[in-house]
Amino acid sequence: MYIVTAKEMYDIDHYTMHVAGLDGRILMENAGRAISGKMKEMLDSSSRITVFAGAGNNGGDGFVIARTLHNMLYDVQVVQVVPDDKITGNAHYHKNLYLNYGGRLFSADDKQRMLARLAETDVIVDAMVGIGISGELREPLGEIADCISHSKAKVISVDLPSGLPADEGIAGFQAVQADLTYIVGAPKMTAFLENTANYYGDWEKLDIGFPAESFRKYANRQLWTAEQFQQTMPKREKYAHKGKHGKGLIIGGSANMPGAAAMAAKASLKTGTGLLTVGSSERVIQMIAPTCMEAMYLPLSDMDGYLVDDPSLSLSGYDAVAVGIGLGRSAQTAGLIHRVLHDSKGPLIIDADGLHHIKDQLESLSQREHPTILTPHPGEMSGLLNLPISEILKHPFQLSAEFAKEYEVYLILKGRHTIITAPDGRQAVTSTGNPGLAKGGSGDVLTGMVHAMVMQDQQIFQALCNACFVHGMAADLMVEYKRAHHDLTASDVIEGISMAYRTIS
Ligand code: ADP
Ligand code: ADP
Ligand code: MG
Repeated sequence: MYIVTAKEMYDIDHYTMHVAGLDGRILMENAGRAISGKMKEMLDSSSRITVFAGAGNNGGDGFVIARTLHNMLYDVQVVQVVPDDKITGNAHYHKNLYLNYGGRLFSADDKQRMLARLAETDVIVDAMVGIGISGELREPLGEIADCISHSKAKVISVDLPSGLPADEGIAGFQAVQADLTYIVGAPKMTAFLENTANYYGDWEKLDIGFPAESFRKYANRQLWTAEQFQQTMPKREKYAHKGKHGKGLIIGGSANMPGAAAMAAKASLKTGTGLLTVGSSERVIQMIAPTCMEAMYLPLSDMDGYLVDDPSLSLSGYDAVAVGIGLGRSAQTAGLIHRVLHDSKGPLIIDADGLHHIKDQLESLSQREHPTILTPHPGEMSGLLNLPISEILKHPFQLSAEFAKEYEVYLILKGRHTIITAPDGRQAVTSTGNPGLAKGGSGDVLTGMVHAMVMQDQQIFQALCNACFVHGMAADLMVEYKRAHHDLTASDVIEGISMAYRTIS
């Protein structure tokens, strides 16, 4: 499923109408019908429906929804939120059809009637403004959006909640809070941003007849789902042996944070790593070895509880290295990171405190001859870019793409929706996972999973997408099993990995 910007969506519209030749009125008919068809499944015969229709294509879709539901004998009324002369073109055509079919309509200027109707409405269809919005909602739409959001009716937005733009990068906005959004054609970026995704409520994408060819140009940015996992995840061969699934090294841990390395190690093994070594201080190894007996251990030099550079450390012979978890931020550790950056072969994953230590040696990243993968959460990304977190959350797609290109790295920007970016600009979003993951240790588990996946799949980008997808899914399945978010721990997520594999393989 592709994720598009407003401009890309207009290009897709344009291609459909002017290259393929599908009449815009038919496209609108298809959108409206697809949505009213879905609505019918949830309505009962007495449902009262109010459609708020604006001037553009979004309003036009609203008139089709109103006409088709009216024609199924539901109690439908349209509140027109713009003056008559603003409704032109295809929207005008469908407004007329609605009226010719005997549909009822009144203007939002009749505020009393609007409030009275709102009070007795079961379902609101928000078709005021779509991707054509510029700036913040203008009055009276802002006020109407507020009334809609606060009404007790179920709110269904068409394509995206009125007031939200399609693209990232917005400062202030006021928008309809939907319970459900029927996205037309392809999800827009704001469906995945920390500050805007909630406005969509639940969402479902509907196909309305855009030619497959029209999307092909945008295959660069997609939502990674179970379908992609099934298509890309390499199978374990019958005659496999442990050497075939990767010899991995995880370096991490410090006196105060011994557990992180253990979490990552267990997650890596659960995700399929053939042979795993954990590099840490003697003291940390003594603590964690009894909890993870499948791993081998490599003692590294430390000072005051923190790992330090160790000239005897040999990094050859490993297929992938993960570094950073639980290391702490002692300045003495930077030398170790430097060595790993320069000496390690194969994919290198840098997470957590490792990201802190590379801040001053970012140029070394592009000098590596092997893939480098960074896994920051927005706070760590803010440290790497020296920008406030609010900026990261505002433009996560753009900033990720710029960073990945400049330093030639793969980037996993973690969050409720995780954005994976390749140095060549490909991007994917995984939306599995839940608030149970908002707990120390969840990221360490992801690092272990990424570590394992890149050793089993030479196509790094898809390996990263699959790691993030399964990580979230493991958490979702465990929450379903336990029926609560609060008690989900990182160890539970590791246990959930088996369930996730069983469910989707
Ligand atoms: P399009 O028809 O381009 O697909 P939409 O259906 O999203 O776009 O609607 C665009 C309509 O919304 C235009 O008629 C425009 O006047 C109106 N509009 C754009 N920005 C705003 C805004 N900030 N507040 C209210 N109405 C707006
Ligand atoms: P830690 O370093 O404490 O282990 P991180 O912040 O590095 O944790 O990673 C947290 C992990 O949990 C990331 O993979 C992130 O995507 C996921 N996560 C956190 N909160 C949520 C949430 N509300 N919904 C979905 N995933 C979440
Ligand atoms: Mg972390």
